[in-house]
Amino acid sequence: MKRVYNFSAGPSMLPLEVLEQAQKEFVCYGSSGMSVMEMSHRSKIFESILEKAKADLKDLMHIPDNYKILFLQGGGSTQFAMIPLNLMNKNNCADYVITGQWAKKAAEEASRYGKVNIVASSADTTFDRIPELDPAKFQKDADYFYITLNNTIYGTRWRELPDTGDVPLVGDMSSSILSEEIDITRFGLLYAGAQKNLGPAGVTVVIIREDLLGNAMEFTPTMLKYDIHAKNNSLYNTPPTYGIYFMGRVFEWVKAQGGVAAMQKRNEEKAALLYDFLDQSQLFRGTVVKKDRSLMNAPFVLPTEELNAKFIKEAEAQGFVNLKGHRTVGGMRASIYNAMPREGVEKLVAFMEQFEADNR
Ligand code: PMP
Repeated sequence: MKRVYNFSAGPSMLPLEVLEQAQKEFVCYGSSGMSVMEMSHRSKIFESILEKAKADLKDLMHIPDNYKILFLQGGGSTQFAMIPLNLMNKNNCADYVITGQWAKKAAEEASRYGKVNIVASSADTTFDRIPELDPAKFQKDADYFYITLNNTIYGTRWRELPDTGDVPLVGDMSSSILSEEIDITRFGLLYAGAQKNLGPAGVTVVIIREDLLGNAMEFTPTMLKYDIHAKNNSLYNTPPTYGIYFMGRVFEWVKAQGGVAAMQKRNEEKAALLYDFLDQSQLFRGTVVKKDRSLMNAPFVLPTEELNAKFIKEAEAQGFVNLKGHRTVGGMRASIYNAMPREGVEKLVAFMEQFEADNR
């Protein structure tokens, strides 16, 4: 069975080297005589896996000592509730910028717990951009300011972070973590589900500044309190052990590639191959304003629904799979996360060129 070029938005392609390494270690990890899946989460050997993963992520993202790294469950969507439950604790209000479905869902969930102020939204242009911000609309007393750094569905990305002063910035980095350099110190909290750039679905990484811990709302369920997980080093209950192990192997892989700066350079080059083609094409069209284009998710369309369907079908037959756009956008979307090799994008672009020549 030949592996395909998988352009899925998530769960997505993982580095082949890591999959093969995991395969080798699947039955017996090191000298333990057992699979990571069969280990107690309180064993010395699992503890070393967890600590190594944390240390490597800290290194890769230059995370300062006053931040805690948590490995949680519940996906990105659980963070939509955990963030307000834990952080909306002084004035019971927060600022949100609506750049797509995930930001909207996060804001809706937060509004169950306090006052949500929508600072800006690009809904009126189908989220084809990051909206302009008017600082006069920022609440001075907001408990936090929330953004989605990379919008998986619409293919937009924040290039410049808003200046929120003393208000902690909270960022959803689910679809761009480890793909570009980021200044952690600008954030109070940053989180990402694993299933795009980090590993199998099931782990969510939360990076939180220590001073934000410990003030959750009275009624917050124990499992949804960041400080409980921080105090227990992500071992309050049984964590997603295999996911943590796999993610740790991905961190080692990113390090071996040269770290996040090297990943970013490679991702910029990959994205440019695709966007440069779209910009000169007479048939294909990118759907996002140029300055806000994502490095990870590139949506594009053909002039008719018939051509979109034809393209997706023919691409699949050639081994380029999962190119169908999100149901709310239509057309196509190529997700080109860290694990997508440059060769995959080059071959896709060559296929698009041929499709254009055949369908003009
Ligand atoms: N945020 C972003 C940016 C996402 O892309 C997704 C899922 N694709 C989510 C949040 C929700 O994550 P989950 O499915 O893990 O709950």
